[in-house]
Amino acid sequence: FESKLPNIGTTIFTVMSQLASEQQAINLGQGFPDFNPDPRLLDLVSAAMAEGHNQYPPMPGIVALREEIAAKAHKLYGANYDPLAEVTVTSGATEALMATIQAFVKTGDEVVVIEPFYDLYLPAIELAGGIPVVVPMQAPDASHPTYRVDWQRVRDAIGPATRMLMLNFPHNPTGIIMTETDLDALESIVRDTGIMLLSDEAYEHIVFDGNIHQSIARRASLAANAVVISSFGKTYHTTGWKIGYCCAPQALTAEIRKVHQFMVFTVPSPMQHALAHYMQDPKPYLGLSDFYQAKRDRLHAGLAATRFQPLPSQGTFFLLARYDAISDLPEAEFARWLTLEHGVAVIPVSAFYRRPDAPESNHGLARFCFAKQDATLDEAIARLARA
Ligand code: PMP
Ligand code: GLN
Repeated sequence: FESKLPNIGTTIFTVMSQLASEQQAINLGQGFPDFNPDPRLLDLVSAAMAEGHNQYPPMPGIVALREEIAAKAHKLYGANYDPLAEVTVTSGATEALMATIQAFVKTGDEVVVIEPFYDLYLPAIELAGGIPVVVPMQAPDASHPTYRVDWQRVRDAIGPATRMLMLNFPHNPTGIIMTETDLDALESIVRDTGIMLLSDEAYEHIVFDGNIHQSIARRASLAANAVVISSFGKTYHTTGWKIGYCCAPQALTAEIRKVHQFMVFTVPSPMQHALAHYMQDPKPYLGLSDFYQAKRDRLHAGLAATRFQPLPSQGTFFLLARYDAISDLPEAEFARWLTLEHGVAVIPVSAFYRRPDAPESNHGLARFCFAKQDATLDEAIARLARA
């Protein structure tokens, strides 16, 4: 047979987590917390099971949860999503992304993606027969310490065959966020084009230094043709539950649900009931940025005292650091070496590039996840100080 994805191997997150576990290394690679969710949330799951919520929930998600999601989007972003027709609970942000791309991308359609990008975007587009059009960000340099999106390059990438533009802010892996100026640029780029926006906002509640999350849902002109995706895994420290959602206008949601119903049909009932209760209290998601900012600061300060050079992170639970004072290995080899020799697993940023092995995809950068207990971060820093 002919592979449909001949150039795709096993995702870097699995590769690095497996290596970390074999080596008993501290895993600052794959993005997941090493601590438990709020016990109250766990109790709500047990209660939901005891109350009998153990059979198929409705295909698009239970109504109570969709109502909470719509209410939150209204409260935070001023968005008006109808919970019945415009909110869908999915198997993580992953399934929302896959279902949306399958629903809308046809053979030969172009999809603009900004590089570096989360590793599922390209294979998802290619499986649907679409053609990824990759727009590189400007890499950090001496005059500018973070990655930057050049919106003019995004504009230039758009043509008659463009079906969709994929966005991901707060951005994995660079930790950059959107500003109002970015939203202005986007508005002017997509105006009158009919291009759909697929906005992966998995880290919407993790934005630092007093900034606020600039959701696509804040601008009616953008939201009118956008699918906005989030993940409870990131927000409530439950990545293993695989529950997320997407919000989109009714006509778009109808198409996404056609795929969702045959991909997974629905997602686990007890968790949906627990989340619907838990979401009534905004404190957990409103407090998440401060919670993670302290961890960002801890890891940033710790790394700054080693030969790693941390870059600023404005959001997500990741930060990038340069390792050129330690090694000139390409990023994937460096990540492996660091795991084997120093017992700390990280992710090579080159894995978020179309051609991970190419010199232009390697900037001497590693991605560190700081969704970890302080003791884990401290032990990792102590090990990294020896590198
Ligand atoms: N998008 C981005 C940018 C992510 O970082 C992740 C996971 N870390 C996902 C999507 C997938 O989220 P989920 O685990 O909810 O499927
Ligand atoms: N999104 C997570 C990360 O960037 C990984 C999720 C996964 O392994 N599928 O590390």
